[in-house]
Amino acid sequence: MLDSEKLLTEGTLECQLDARFGYRNVRVSCAPVVSETQAKLGFIYVIQDITEELENEREQRLASTVFATTTEGVLVSDKHNQIQMVNRAFSEITGFGMDEVIGETPAILNSGRHDERFFNALYGDLVNRGHWEGEIWNKRKNGEIYPSWLQVSAVFNEAREIDMYVALFSDITSRKRNEQLMWQQANFDSLTGLANRHHYHVKFDLALKRAAQLEERFAICFIDLDRFKAVNDTLGHHIGDLLLKEAANRINECVRSSDTVARLGGDEFALLLQDISSISDLELVATKVLRALANPFHLEGHEAYVSGSMGITLYPDDGTDRKILLRNADSAMYKAKEHGRDCFQFYTSAMHQHAKARSVLESALHKALSNRELSLVYQPIFSQLGSGDLVGCEVLLRWKSELLGHVSPEQFIPVCEELGLILPIGEWVLYHACSQIKAWQDNYGRPLFIAVNVSSIQFKRQDMVELVRKVLRDTKLEAKYLTLEITESVLVENSDKILSQLKALREMGVELAIDDFGTGYSSLSYLKRFPLSKLKIDRTFIRDLPEDEEDKALVSAIILMAHKLNLRVIAEGVETPAQCMFLKNLLCDMTQGYFHSKPVAQQEFEANVLTMQYHKQSHS
Ligand code: C2E
Ligand code: MG
Ligand code: MG
Repeated sequence: MLDSEKLLTEGTLECQLDARFGYRNVRVSCAPVVSETQAKLGFIYVIQDITEELENEREQRLASTVFATTTEGVLVSDKHNQIQMVNRAFSEITGFGMDEVIGETPAILNSGRHDERFFNALYGDLVNRGHWEGEIWNKRKNGEIYPSWLQVSAVFNEAREIDMYVALFSDITSRKRNEQLMWQQANFDSLTGLANRHHYHVKFDLALKRAAQLEERFAICFIDLDRFKAVNDTLGHHIGDLLLKEAANRINECVRSSDTVARLGGDEFALLLQDISSISDLELVATKVLRALANPFHLEGHEAYVSGSMGITLYPDDGTDRKILLRNADSAMYKAKEHGRDCFQFYTSAMHQHAKARSVLESALHKALSNRELSLVYQPIFSQLGSGDLVGCEVLLRWKSELLGHVSPEQFIPVCEELGLILPIGEWVLYHACSQIKAWQDNYGRPLFIAVNVSSIQFKRQDMVELVRKVLRDTKLEAKYLTLEITESVLVENSDKILSQLKALREMGVELAIDDFGTGYSSLSYLKRFPLSKLKIDRTFIRDLPEDEEDKALVSAIILMAHKLNLRVIAEGVETPAQCMFLKNLLCDMTQGYFHSKPVAQQEFEANVLTMQYHKQSHS
């Protein structure tokens, strides 16, 4: 039983009971029992089992040691979320002392980086599941914002109501920094800071997905530095490294921030160019990069010269798979090396030919205006009502290039539009056309109108109202004798800027015709919404008249509908008497085409068209 040697005669003792009781800790109190005469009768022992009490004490000591020494911040708040207790680590991480936060809410740590939804979800989880865990950005007392890993638990009372919250959090700034560093090392080249091969492939696959979805084109360019090995061998690796860094910077400066520039290894670089709007844009970037690389490199007192050989391949033109496209870009790059370096080559020779022809066209066009290579021809338009008179003409551009010979407007007008050259050229056409028709009106006494083709770019980049007003004033032509021919593309833009210009032009008295009707988006709603006065049926609908039943039906419907909308109708590309007769029977207002006359130069127009004989001939 009790260890008798340690037995007291008076007082309290804590000791252990032996094995029979399973080693219980007990508190033994002893008091002597005396009689009234003070004679000792014996002792009263009270033995109290304190095993659990001791255990609890130990646990509490342990808990408060953990609470005080853990490196994780601990915050305990009551059911109103008012902070009751924090530990030392809390103060170390947040910078707030215990006395500064007691009674406050955890909102004092709010970084402002999370929205209401985030906190609603957090408290939702606490209420429903009693726990939330995740990454959160908090703010220290000094205002610094840092990432932390937070675990919050709700403590419930017996009624399952939240009694308090216990939050544990750690500062993960350095972990994040390490992760970032590891990511950086895994994805970027340490010398140049460019994407490495791995990251290039990741970006490539994303670009493939996007381009497939949006049906877009993107380009892959491989660049290999020419003569880099010589620099490395003669000036040493240190200078070689500096050159690579500088080359990387130069390439980076030539592309948009949305493009990817990578160093695949050694002196090999690669570009991923998305949103390619035209081959000539692509060529522009390629030329810029090569020019940048060909400039001398000044490296710690040394001057070095290299250049670049570039291979270009296009998705989806040259392939739809990463491996194939990369292989094609590589072989195009070798083609560039064989071509004498410091140049770019497309993988497909057809593309290369196209690009070459295009750049020749572009440079020739730049000189067209100043070299007076542009001229105008006029194609007469006849009325089909009444006597069948000549009522006007359409002016059409001609370009005879010194280098390329005759180039059709269908080829060069789109290029002019892209290059912005359509503005000076369009202005030149308008001036000449208006003064020509005015001269014919005056000299021949005929109230002819002139139809001038106008591109949508002109409406977008210019104030056409001002320009037309000025031209009419300068040439003294009455507004009603000018018709501007616009295509459906102008209307499709559906921009207020264009609509307001069209309205102002109509108010001035200028006529507006929709050209090539039926080839574009042909929506009836355009015809109603825009202030048009004429409609030109595209020649593809006229070509097979009067045999083709479908075209017959279409053309008669177009004429009927146009008349209902108060539009006068002109049929383009009328080549035969049968076509002319058919259109006349459908009450088509006017006809234009080789049947009457091809577009001809000023002198021929005066000699043949403006004379009565010709007119009679064409209607005999
Ligand atoms: P468009 O305005 O529809 O001009 C009519 C085109 O049809 C002209 O071609 C004309 O030569 C051709 N054509 C006329 N009658 C017949 C015919 O009976 N049969 C056939 N097969 N063709 C006929 P062109 O001159 O090659 O012009 C092509 C297009 O270039 C024009 O189509 C117009 O959209 C554009 N264009 C021409 N000059 C200008 C200009 O000064 N400014 C702008 N923005 N575009 C112009
Ligand atoms: Mg036209
Ligand atoms: Mg047309």
